[in-house]
Amino acid sequence: MALYKHAVFLDKSGDAAFDQLQRPSVPAPWPGIYRCHACGHEIAIAQGHALPPQNHHQHEPGVGPIQWRLVASHKAY
Ligand SMILES: [Zn+2]
Repeated sequence: MALYKHAVFLDKSGDAAFDQLQRPSVPAPWPGIYRCHACGHEIAIAQGHALPPQNHHQHEPGVGPIQWRLVASHKAY
């Protein structure tokens, strides 16, 4: 779970970018914090970098494949 202390530095967004699931290894459409939809593992991605590959971390059988969901971004539009 992403943490923060000072809410004044964050704005809530209704952008659809936060609803999309991204496949492993694709260029991250936005920089920021991403969460694995299947297991909750979180990562941070800089502008212009690709999301981690399918072998980034292991899932127990039945959990499903890695899919990355944007959690927080400074440029989600
Ligand atoms: Zn995962």
